[in-house]
Amino acid sequence: MGPELALPAAAPREAEFGHDALIVCDNLVRIYQTESVEVQALQGLDLLVHEGEMVALVGASGSGKSTLLQVLAGVDAPTAGRARVAGQDLVDMSRSDRVRYRRHVVGFVRQQSTQNLVPYLTARQMVDLPLTIAGVPRKQRRGRADGVLETLEVADCADRRPHQMSGGQQQRVALAVALANRPRVLLADEPTGELDTETAAEVFTALRTANRELGATVVVVTHDVGVSGQVARSIAIRDGRTSSETLRDGTTGHGPGTAEEYAVMDRAGRVQVPREFREALALSRRVRLALTADHVEIRSDDRGGNA
Ligand code: ADP
Ligand code: MG
Repeated sequence: MGPELALPAAAPREAEFGHDALIVCDNLVRIYQTESVEVQALQGLDLLVHEGEMVALVGASGSGKSTLLQVLAGVDAPTAGRARVAGQDLVDMSRSDRVRYRRHVVGFVRQQSTQNLVPYLTARQMVDLPLTIAGVPRKQRRGRADGVLETLEVADCADRRPHQMSGGQQQRVALAVALANRPRVLLADEPTGELDTETAAEVFTALRTANRELGATVVVVTHDVGVSGQVARSIAIRDGRTSSETLRDGTTGHGPGTAEEYAVMDRAGRVQVPREFREALALSRRVRLALTADHVEIRSDDRGGNA
């Protein structure tokens, strides 16, 4: 080992990063090692989600969305960085805490929809399962299971097995299973991915119900603009980092409100300039930054020598 690099003097810290957020990812890294190759699925991702929010995660296939959700669900551990949900440190967590976390704090609907349901059980039996595991007394379980199926508008599926349900019903039952133990956080990985527009809207309604009526903080991965266009905040993931956020006003569920896209600045002050902007002004490698009274300018380096 060489000598350690001297770190710059720490800036005065007002408060810990994301101290008031329910979900905090701080410089999260996840590297998958396969025999010969190393895939950096998350490359220093920062994310804050506050209690009660419903946010959409969007991004190209392979950008790291599922990896992020698996970390937040406590089913995968990051290689480096920090992840905290509801005060629980997901990196440094005992086995028993992890089990408790997965049972009580998060509900997770996986991207592979077949993994969310048990083919030979009815919807009521599937919702009953996590309740039983959590030790809810038998007398309360039936009412709780029927209640959550009712809330997600799939009460008519209580006695049906997955193959007797439509795709949209299956996804809502999967959400019901995830919500059975009243988790504070609901994570759903492309829950509308395989559905037509109308059915996707029903599943989206169920997510909104989970958020508004059951009080869960919801993180949903989606390609569906019908979903991302209706949440107040959608976060774009690109190459394993959060790159931009779109905030919307007046998201009433009756069509999108006005949307404004923001770039995300990481904690070191780095911002990604969108490709269209870079191309329009031939910005590359070295740029001039200037501070004005109320904004920062970025100009191409007119001395050339950018190659
Ligand atoms: P997304 O959900 O955004 O499509 P993923 O999180 O599934 O992205 O994947 C991010 C990257 O990590 C991809 O390059 C993918 O091939 C890789 N990856 C995901 N899971 C594994 C794994 N278990 N082993 C190796 N590489 C993986
Ligand atoms: Mg995925």
